[in-house]
Amino acid sequence: MAGPVVIGRILTPDTLAGSALLFVPIAAVSLVAWQTVGPAPQGTVTHYLILTVAVLAFSTFTGNSGILSFGHVAFMGLAAHISGLLTIPPAQKGVFLPDVPSWLAGTDMHVLVAGLIAVALVTSIGFLVGIPISRLGGASAAIATLGLLIIVYGVIVGARDFTRGSQALIGVPKTVDIPTALVFVAVAILLARLFRDSLSGLELRAAREDEPAASAIGVNAPGRRLFAWTVSAAIAAVAGVLLAHYLGVYSPREFYFQITFAILAMLIVGGMTSVSGAVVGAVLVTVLIEVLRGAEERVNAAFFDEPTVFGLTDIGLSLAILGVLFWRRNGLFGYWEIEELAGGWRRWTGFERGPPAADAVVERVSGEGALEIDGVVKSFGGLRAVDGASLALRPGEILGLIGPNGSGKTTLLGCVSGALDVTAGRVGLDGADITAMPAHMIARSRVGRTFQNIRLFANLTCLDNVKAALAASGARRPANGMEARALMAELGVEDYAERRAGALAYGLQRRLEIARALALEPRYLLLDEPAAGMNETESDELLGILAGLRESRGLGLLIVDHDLRLIMRLCDRVVVLNKGRVIAEGTPGEVQSDPDVIEAYLGQRRAARKAAAHQP
Ligand code: ADP
Ligand code: MG
Repeated sequence: MAGPVVIGRILTPDTLAGSALLFVPIAAVSLVAWQTVGPAPQGTVTHYLILTVAVLAFSTFTGNSGILSFGHVAFMGLAAHISGLLTIPPAQKGVFLPDVPSWLAGTDMHVLVAGLIAVALVTSIGFLVGIPISRLGGASAAIATLGLLIIVYGVIVGARDFTRGSQALIGVPKTVDIPTALVFVAVAILLARLFRDSLSGLELRAAREDEPAASAIGVNAPGRRLFAWTVSAAIAAVAGVLLAHYLGVYSPREFYFQITFAILAMLIVGGMTSVSGAVVGAVLVTVLIEVLRGAEERVNAAFFDEPTVFGLTDIGLSLAILGVLFWRRNGLFGYWEIEELAGGWRRWTGFERGPPAADAVVERVSGEGALEIDGVVKSFGGLRAVDGASLALRPGEILGLIGPNGSGKTTLLGCVSGALDVTAGRVGLDGADITAMPAHMIARSRVGRTFQNIRLFANLTCLDNVKAALAASGARRPANGMEARALMAELGVEDYAERRAGALAYGLQRRLEIARALALEPRYLLLDEPAAGMNETESDELLGILAGLRESRGLGLLIVDHDLRLIMRLCDRVVVLNKGRVIAEGTPGEVQSDPDVIEAYLGQRRAARKAAAHQP
């Protein structure tokens, strides 16, 4: 049993099988081509293999972060020009690049050394550029990568002394053939899969699905993005070096929109979010481009005297993208990897199966300390959604937070968990000031939360939802399937481990969200309307589970809910908010008979009735 576990840490059977299933057919076909066909088709195959490395670079960043990148071709271009410059023989440099500095004019490096230097330099540049880009999310990050492509292209063209401007570099040694390219395809596939399947990759995929929820389980999303960006810049640099030493002659134009477009087409057709999708997309788009080019040439030969730019290839590619987007929005592979589709792989190996660990250590939290909310104010523009609220939650205590709609309950939870910046006031955690702490650090300090509008990582399996939290929480417990299953069992959702979280019924989703929060080993757990949308039976079951959590784990629970039946039966103490202020606090019985509370709730009902009366 020790064997698979040790291998399983870094290189899981899934990763290995998935990589092999992709690489073996590619290698077989390419090697047959290498032995049988002429130089021209061999060139096509080599070119395709290099583009596969490039698409894997895109996939490593875009697939896991969900941010479309236009910028990776810039890294390819930089690497190609650096490696080219270092390897062109001095005699040729004297002719074509007379203005390079003398220390460069004499260099005559081995391709391998030059390639390594190029990759190292470009990776460092990638890291530096990545610092601002990784802080952006979504569309703004994508636009920033587009800017990167345009700027780097401009720089390469502008650096005439080194690149001959928009003219082609000539005399770069052509050393890349099919076997060489294949070696790098193997490395790139393995690297892309290793990253995707790593805990770091899982955290990034969680942030791709829902960044606020990822922060709430301790994921440092910008940090994870920066890492993926840097790794992918390195892979792109390798692809650039390969392309340089395959082409031998190339201009900056080779590394601009055309190739970016082709690579993005591969990614979109195959499926952006899986490594298998990227690799298979590369095959399909290459075949499509070849077929279209052939057709274009034949049309040109038949109807025109001279070769005419007809644009059939670009039109065909665009149609392919549109077609795939229409039929399968997430590409051919969607969110799946090839070994998952090949089916039965997990069942066959029995990897990570078996009953949850019976001896799961549940740490009972001590009763000392408190989560203190002290005069917290949160304004949205002119509106004070929370207006100087104060309350304290102790470990082992169940505190209800109720109040009419819009009274600021959710906003207050956001202030405590770091999802929102506090306008004024202080949040203290066991004596430490956490008011300005970012959300993921508060989560790692063992404050868990769930969301009113459930925020699961919808396209990850239920198991991966919990595993991501185990990984991001700071590794108090090992982030493996066994631990995750044990937590799921505590909430009674262990049967859904391999399901996509987004496919579960709401009641189960809410439970899974609590299981995910428990992965933080929370001292304090904030639940925003956990019983919303549940029927009476489900809500009674939840009540049992929550009471059990306090018993077994001794954590402090803050529960916001509209279900007063649940609140009154479960809570030791209840705090009532109205218009952002605490208007009452006490035992459920005391609060229920408080005239201010009755007025607040009645006032709301009266207002609702008035509004209904005004309806036409
Ligand atoms: P509750 O959870 O008690 O129903 P909320 O905390 O959701 O109340 O909302 C409190 C008030 O703050 C409401 O008036 C709401 O419209 C406003 N509010 C909440 N979130 C935002 C936001 N992100 N931007 C602007 N206003 C908000
Ligand atoms: Mg709310």
